[in-house]
Amino acid sequence: MAQIKNQPHRGVEGEASSALPMKGATRAHIINGKALSEKIRSQIRLEVEKLSRKKRVPGLAVVRVGNNEASKVYVRNKIASCEQVGMKSFHYPLSEKTSEKKLIQLLSKLNKDKNIHGILVQLPLPKQMNPDRIVETIHPDKDVDGLHPFNLGRLALGKPSFIPCTPAGIMRILEEINYDCKGKEAVVVGRSNIVGKPIALLLLAQNATVTLCHSQTKDLESHLKRADLLIAAVGVPQLIRGTSLRKGVVVIDVGINRNSDGKLKGDVDFESAASVASHITPVPGGVGPMTIAMLLWNTLQAAKKKLI
Ligand code: NAD
Repeated sequence: MAQIKNQPHRGVEGEASSALPMKGATRAHIINGKALSEKIRSQIRLEVEKLSRKKRVPGLAVVRVGNNEASKVYVRNKIASCEQVGMKSFHYPLSEKTSEKKLIQLLSKLNKDKNIHGILVQLPLPKQMNPDRIVETIHPDKDVDGLHPFNLGRLALGKPSFIPCTPAGIMRILEEINYDCKGKEAVVVGRSNIVGKPIALLLLAQNATVTLCHSQTKDLESHLKRADLLIAAVGVPQLIRGTSLRKGVVVIDVGINRNSDGKLKGDVDFESAASVASHITPVPGGVGPMTIAMLLWNTLQAAKKKLI
């Protein structure tokens, strides 16, 4: 892949920045994750249409347990997104009191169902359930979230099958801006199984030198200062400021946090970081839309393996 070329100055959502104030003006190219996700969804829609003409429609089962309000919104979006690209969705809303045994029985049934190519269990789960046991019940071939130990193991070996959706979306963003990871100092902040660890493995596979920081890292600033590429997946609003970053850094902000006045904020302070970065993802409109696009992508791949 080529190195990043100089990009024109852009406003939020990738538009020309003539309306931006001069003082502290944004310099970075703002990566439009929404537009990229739309492009990917259009490609998926075309492939789904082709399969559907042969009566082979990809299907995703979405299981939600309990009344977590955020989970309800995420699940609604995922189901609507399936329908937009012509996939079938099968929704299983279960009560908060559902036993682990009942959920395992449902997943075993879905594993065998030929109309279902992908299975997603929305996390978090109620406390009577062990999330590891639940994820391990999903057949690896239908694990479109990429969280089964088999799929994470393959990722660690550099032979990925399903890549967890958010890290997959980040890699797709880097590809879109022609970012060449080879030899770059990539600093990942956050070591969760769904974002931090898998993205670190993916960047390593692309020959970046990867530093994985977390809550016990002694001197975060010293690592941030070295970053050519920063992936922030922490869950602390505006933890990372532009003054900690080096000029020309590419900033991918995974964080989705609500601040005290209810506004969505990333883990990075956008304004200060945009004044030093070469490229930056906004929140909202950056990594978030890519996550669902990659879920649809993984479901399409799962279906193609069975249907073609
Ligand atoms: P998590 O809570 O599982 O992990 C957070 C990580 O941050 C931990 O590894 C912890 O060690 C580290 N951390 C906490 N405080 C720190 C500090 N002060 N300095 C350095 N490291 C610190 O979180 P997660 O599930 O990976 O999510 C992280 C953020 O990304 C959240 O805001 C979440 O909402 C968001 N998220 C967004 C998407 C998306 O689609 N855009 C997907 C998943 C998560």
